[in-house]
Amino acid sequence: MKGPLDTEPYKGVRDFYPENWGKLSALFATARHTLASWGYEEYQASPLERAELYESKGNEEIIREQTYTFEDRAGRRVTLRPEMTPSLARMVAGKRRELAFPLRWFSIGNRFRYERPQRGRLREFFQTDVDLIGLPAGEADVEIITLAHTLMQAFGASPKDFTIRINSRALLSRACEAVGLTDDEGVRAYWQLLDKKSKMSAEEFEQARGNTPDPLKAVEDATDSKVKAEKENVFALIETLKTRGIENVSFDPEIVRGFDYYTGVVFEVNDTSPENPRALFGGGRYDGLVSMFGGESIPAVGFAFGDVTLMDFLETHKYELPSLSSPELYIATPSVDDIEQAQAFANTLRPSLRVFVNLSEKKVGDQIKDADKRHIPLVLVYGKDEQGSATVSVKELSTGTEHTISKETAGAEIAKLLPR
Ligand code: AMP
Repeated sequence: MKGPLDTEPYKGVRDFYPENWGKLSALFATARHTLASWGYEEYQASPLERAELYESKGNEEIIREQTYTFEDRAGRRVTLRPEMTPSLARMVAGKRRELAFPLRWFSIGNRFRYERPQRGRLREFFQTDVDLIGLPAGEADVEIITLAHTLMQAFGASPKDFTIRINSRALLSRACEAVGLTDDEGVRAYWQLLDKKSKMSAEEFEQARGNTPDPLKAVEDATDSKVKAEKENVFALIETLKTRGIENVSFDPEIVRGFDYYTGVVFEVNDTSPENPRALFGGGRYDGLVSMFGGESIPAVGFAFGDVTLMDFLETHKYELPSLSSPELYIATPSVDDIEQAQAFANTLRPSLRVFVNLSEKKVGDQIKDADKRHIPLVLVYGKDEQGSATVSVKELSTGTEHTISKETAGAEIAKLLPR
């Protein structure tokens, strides 16, 4: 062996030390709470999938260039899931006779894509997938997009800081037909190009489009009756969302989303700040995916958001997600003899607070420095005097302010001192 092993993680993936994992857990907890309150249930699957799952209706680019695919010891081709929707479709198809439709399901877990690591893009990231399965377009699409909006607000975002841009694959398909672009390959190539349009200059896009007819023009003109009808469907959806109080939605004929399985509405949530150009959420309707596993098709609509882009968004706009696991109160113990009493007192507080009790023999001054280093905002010394008293004194480390608090109501009283 050449020297000691590297402590850095593998390229494009992250370690989560408790402080960061606490933040991410807070994000997940907020998502879980919000989704459960809308009647969505959590499911889970292994990140190991058969490679073939992605090969018929996924996304060419992801499959060709971005999957982690390998052979297991028995020669089976295995892929680390790059996205959740195919696993979801597999699970739904596998129990289609037993499940009570419509399903409102969500899942939070890691996804793997062999991408060039950059801002907003990593090789392992966490996605929350939210899906409503078993209902056609209409109220189901409205609910799913409303839920994306609701989640953003639950994370503390103000609607002025993000936009929801909506388009329709059905509209794009009709527009392609209207301009004579009908072969599958040509349509797919055009969509891939359109998907990248926002990252290109107008000239680059026109050059890459070459002689391909322009479906965007057909969307704009809407002279073709089928194009017109689909365009009206998208506008009706946007109108409904607006009348229900969602103002930051708009039509964007250039939204495609990468996956081949989308059949109806497609949408993205974007940061209004140019610092974060990548989509925060992406989703759409995929009415044909479940029938890949046989049987009748089951209509479905859903979206996913990733932790990387969302955390960048929250940081850019200075939204603080509270950690759900970092201690809130540090109990200093002047002597090891005080630990038993300190733990007993801590237990009376623990239903309302996350309490850290010092077990070391450090001097009280050093324990306070320790609390500061751990970013614990409140400190209480629990020596002999406090053990015999009906009150304790709690210090806010950020300001040095001390508060005398009755032991009887200490849990609730100390909780009120926490920074908001
Ligand atoms: P997609 O599954 O490609 O439709 O993307 C949905 C969301 O997942 C995006 O809006 C991002 O938030 C996130 N996402 C996709 N790919 C990555 C990646 N390589 N790294 C981090 N987040 C990603």
